[in-house]
This record gives sequence, C-alpha cells and structure tokens, in this order.
Amino acid sequence: MAKNIQSIRGMHDILPEAAPTWQFFESTVRNLLATYGYSEIRMPIVEQTDLFKRAVGEVTDIVEKEMYILESRRDTEGGEAFSMALRPEGTAGCVRAGIQAGLIFNQQQRLWYAGPMFRAERPQKGRYRQFHQIGVETFGIAGPDIDAELIAIGARLWKQLGLKNIHLELNSLGSLEARHAYRQLLVEYFSAHQDQLDEDSKRRLHTNPLRILDSKNPTMRELVAAAPNLHEHLDSESAEHFAQLQSMLDGMGISYRINPRLVRGLDYYSRTVFEWVTDELGSQGTVCAGGRYDGLVEQLGGRPTPACGFAMGVERLILLLETQAVQAPANNPDVFLVMAGDAAAKAGLSLAEQLRDALPDLRLVSNCGGGNFKTQMKRADKSGAAVALILGENELERAEITLKPLRSEGEQINLPLCELAAHLSQLIEKTKQH
Ligand code: ATP
Ligand code: MG
Repeated sequence: MAKNIQSIRGMHDILPEAAPTWQFFESTVRNLLATYGYSEIRMPIVEQTDLFKRAVGEVTDIVEKEMYILESRRDTEGGEAFSMALRPEGTAGCVRAGIQAGLIFNQQQRLWYAGPMFRAERPQKGRYRQFHQIGVETFGIAGPDIDAELIAIGARLWKQLGLKNIHLELNSLGSLEARHAYRQLLVEYFSAHQDQLDEDSKRRLHTNPLRILDSKNPTMRELVAAAPNLHEHLDSESAEHFAQLQSMLDGMGISYRINPRLVRGLDYYSRTVFEWVTDELGSQGTVCAGGRYDGLVEQLGGRPTPACGFAMGVERLILLLETQAVQAPANNPDVFLVMAGDAAAKAGLSLAEQLRDALPDLRLVSNCGGGNFKTQMKRADKSGAAVALILGENELERAEITLKPLRSEGEQINLPLCELAAHLSQLIEKTKQH
C-alpha cells in the first residue's frame, strides 16, 4: 500500500465536527456586517510579492520572514517573470482591488472579505501557517466616527456570539509626519542605551524602531517603559481625533484601555490602532486587530484616501467559542428516510423529492446504498435526525408512512402519505423554536 500523504505542518483541515461552529461564526458575522451596510469583496489568494512589500512594509516580520513566495513564472504572452506570494493578510489586496476597480477615489466604501491567509510562522495553539481572517475595510471617511463604528461592530459581534472576556486596547500613532519625528526621538533614546538592547532590537533600531516598543523580551521591559511617550508627541489633529474617538466610545458605553505601547506589526497604520484581546488563549490572545491607514491608498498608487479597518483571526475566535463552551446550533437532519424493499426504495426517491418541493427548509437524508431494515435504522440514528420515516411494503400498499422518533420517548405513529408534508412542517417549526 502507498504511504499516506499528510497535510502540511501548520495547515489544517476543518473537519465536519467543527463545521457547525465555523458556520455559526461565519453566518453571525455575515449577517451583522449586512446590518451595518458592508458589502463583500473577494480577492485572489495570490498577489504580486511587491504589493505586500509596498503595503505591509519591507522591515516587518511578515515581509522579512513570514511570506510564502511562489516560483516566478512568465505569463504565457511573454513579458517579465514576476514574483508571486500567497497573501499573508487581506488589506493590501483589498486596497489594490479597490484602486483597480475605481471603487475608492472620491467615494465612501464599507467592505469586508473572508478567507485563508498564509504566514510561515512557528505553529502553535492559535498560530498556524494557513489561518483564516475576516477583514473589514472602510475608505473615504476621515473622521473618528468610522473608527468608532468599526469598534462597535466588534463589541456587538462578541455579544451576538455569546463571547465574554474580550477587552479593547486602544492607541493613537499620530500622523505619519508626527510618527517620523517621534521615530527620531526613539532612535536617539535607544542609541544612547545600545548596550541594553537585545539582538532583535539592535536590528530594529534603524529599520523599524517603533517595533522595539512591542518587544516581548522581559530584559527590555524597563528600558521600554522609560522610552519617550508617543502620546506626548502626537500632532494636535491626531490628538483631537483620538479624544473624539474616546468620547464616542464613552457615549456608546464601550470600555477600553489606552495602551501607549500598542504599535501593531504592520507599517501602514497611522492614528487609531486597536486590538481586541482575551487572556483565555495564552500568548495568542489577540483575536481581532486593526486601525487607521490613511497613507496606504496613495502608497499603492491611488489618490490620497482616508481608510480604517480591522481583521479578526477566525481560528482564535473559534478556540474561544470552544473554551467558553458556546453551543453552535446543530446542523442535524430533521428526518431520515428508511426504505425497506425494492419497490419502496424506488417510491421513496420520488417521495423525498415531493417533500423537498413542498418544504424547501426540510432537512431530509435518504437512505442510499441499500441495506436491511436494521442497517438502515442504524444509519438513521447516526445521522442525528430527529425522526425516522419508514417506508416498507405494508406502508406502500396502504399509502401510509411510519414515523419513529429517534431522539425522544414519543410513540411511533402511522400517517397517510397525503398528511406527511403538513406533519413535517410542524416538526420543522418546533425544531426552529429550540
Ligand atoms: P500576532 O501578534 O499574534 O502575530 P499580528 O499582529 O501578526 O498578530 P495581524 O496581522 O494584525 O496579526 O492579523 C490580525 C489577526 O489575525 C490577529 O489578531 C490574529 O487574531 C490573527 N492571526 C495573525 N496571524 C495568525 C496566525 N499565524 N495564525 C492564526 N491567527 C493569526
Ligand atoms: Mg504576527
């Protein structure tokens, strides 16, 4: 026998047993975003590598070491071979698509997308090489009202999902110019303390000094704590934007913690940045992260356009649903059709289609592949159906059907076939109410 081929480390199947939770999560998000007036956009999973270099930034973890780059290929029409990468995140592709389709210039857009992202990281709980994000991006709205709306969507989503213990961390990075000035201060400060920097931070000192603030290394803690405070160097417009955002959140009753060390790993952010964090998932506690990226559209070739968005880590939220034992609605069938004998098997196929015509919501699994009565009843039980519909030779003769409850104590009953649809309609109503 040939050796089994296994999935790639850090890339997982989502098996049928997990599907109800994923579907509950996805449909809740989809419905919620529709109620706020957001439209879906779908982008390719592969983009030119240059897009991510330009958008995410050359000296970020993602671009430096986490991208899966495909072998360059020439177009069939000839032309230059170019490098392609599996997308590590969605914002770059969304902005690229928006500019390309003329969706961004001089208009407002509220968009969302969902799908797999790829990063070559060390796999661990809550951190994978293929993982899923649902991203939400808005364009053309400069004021803090849209920042507040995006945060309110998060808060409402946790409530609708039944999740507790997710806290909001908030910061402002200021305008790009203010950030550059602050960056200079940081370089001076950390250069004066070179001897206390760890290897990573030495490397970051001249490429991306803000990232030093994000260092998880305990030996760096004191040095980082005494670093110049970004908030004292915010430009006045950003300070005003940040103050207004806080007052809007207060007005909506959304609590937050201002974290001046929150800098985010991607270069394109300016002004507002935020993270939704839980302490129930160990060190992979950030379940959703985002902020404002007013410079990115221009950086990718569009006209200057304000923009703000966030992305959730779906696997981490699914883990949290499991940790907090949130029950997703089961996807069990309503009925399983057992057909005893050749004549019944044939009649049963038509009956099933007639029932589906009459009751489009009915979840009906027909026995396929034959089997005696006992085998079929076992399949019915395993299917999770509430009721077995039994069509045998006796039933066929009398134009009847037998209904046997599988999950409750109720009695087995016989019904004339002509009353079956009406009876099942009531059954569906009852399960919907539960
Ligand atoms: P982290 O600090 O955990 O590496 P990040 O700053 O790299 O996160 P973002 O690029 O902001 O993450 O992505 C948004 C969200 O996507 C994260 O908050 C997280 O929930 C999720 N996420 C990011 N990387 C992974 C991964 N490798 N596996 C699973 N989820 C991830
Ligand atoms: Mg990361």
